[in-house]
Amino acid sequence: MSTVIDNAVAPHAAHAASLRQAQDGAAPVSTPLADARSQLAEAIGLLGFSEGTHQMLATPRRELTVAVPLRRDSGETVLFTGYRVQHNFSRGPAKGGLRYAPNVDIDEVRALAMWMTWKCALLDVPYGGAKGGIAIDPREHSKAELERVTRRYTSEILPIIGPERDIPAPDIGTDEQTMAWIMDTYSVNSGYTVPGIVTGKPIALGGSQGRASATSRGVTHIALAALRHAGITPSQATAAVQGFGKVGADAARFLTESGVTVQAVSDQYGAVFNAAGLDIEALAAHVRETGAVIGFSGAEALDGAALLELEVDLLVPAAVEGVLHEGNAARVQAKVIVEGANGPTTPAADGIMRERGILVVPDILANAGGVIVSYFEWVQANQAYWWRVDEVEARLEERMLSAWQHVLGYATSRGLSLRTAATALAVERVAEAHKLRGLYP
Ligand code: GLU
Repeated sequence: MSTVIDNAVAPHAAHAASLRQAQDGAAPVSTPLADARSQLAEAIGLLGFSEGTHQMLATPRRELTVAVPLRRDSGETVLFTGYRVQHNFSRGPAKGGLRYAPNVDIDEVRALAMWMTWKCALLDVPYGGAKGGIAIDPREHSKAELERVTRRYTSEILPIIGPERDIPAPDIGTDEQTMAWIMDTYSVNSGYTVPGIVTGKPIALGGSQGRASATSRGVTHIALAALRHAGITPSQATAAVQGFGKVGADAARFLTESGVTVQAVSDQYGAVFNAAGLDIEALAAHVRETGAVIGFSGAEALDGAALLELEVDLLVPAAVEGVLHEGNAARVQAKVIVEGANGPTTPAADGIMRERGILVVPDILANAGGVIVSYFEWVQANQAYWWRVDEVEARLEERMLSAWQHVLGYATSRGLSLRTAATALAVERVAEAHKLRGLYP
């Protein structure tokens, strides 16, 4: 069903994985979890933390695997597997999205949960990190089936979630309707309405103004700052955006509104290119009509993988993990990369692109706008007092740009990449909270 299709580009990810696996004698095969752990290990080494602290931060605090049986509309019963991983609670309740995608597994969810811990710590929102997932392709199911899957999954993870424990939000394959079902299931089981149980809800149910576009707005604030830092005037810059879902579509729109020439965008079916800049509104209308960017009359067709190697100033990977890897990093021509997705760049690609002078703004900074406004939504729900959209957007911009300055300053003064700086700052904050609380018993 179309409402839950978003920025999954599985073919690219599969391509990336097979390319990576094909590298004979290469370092351990890159997976999201291996990548997340290698980033953590680097930060731990830099901070000089003990192996005990390292082990603790490398390991999720709590994880739950649940069976999710679904009675299909046909009457047949099928079984899915769901996960909720709570990586860390040292700074507050666990927080993170819920992903519906066919290839979701426990290791991917572990990686995404760890990245949420760092993202929340880096942006100083008072949460730990979590992530959930169900190995399901939402496009193969009716709305009624997705509702039953969501409600059954919610009731299975009910004992470990709550507005003070763990607060889910949308991610790939889920949307505000999914959040409404989770809120309702949790509330019915509680006997009263609990709007703080999820974020990314419909506004009519206590969702926040500005939440739906928050990740893309944040990506745009960071992209403009990063371009300027690299000496590129945004109004003279060209860009390519991988993914035309929840993050990519609005990022392409906001970048265009900011004067950047967005020349190419892709989705899981292919890419489109126009050297003079794409008409993003017309492209969005085409996608609403046909379900894909390909076939858009205002552009020429382009191979999805080729989009990553275009000669543009700015590249925004806003789809899935591992798309910039050892096999293509040497061919990337963008000067600035702003990670709209979680984990799009493997450590090997990071190394190659750093050597080539490409400025990579890491996911935990670049795409944090979503969880920042999730935090605003949770604060508003807890107080039953709603903010205007301009208040939400001003506070979002202020937090994104101050985090950018903080990470940039830390990186510059120590000669680190932005990723290493951001991860180290986040890990340090989490470790400090843990130290102050002490180890129980
Ligand atoms: N899924 C989003 C992310 O990866 C949002 C998480 C949230 O708002 O809790 O950051």
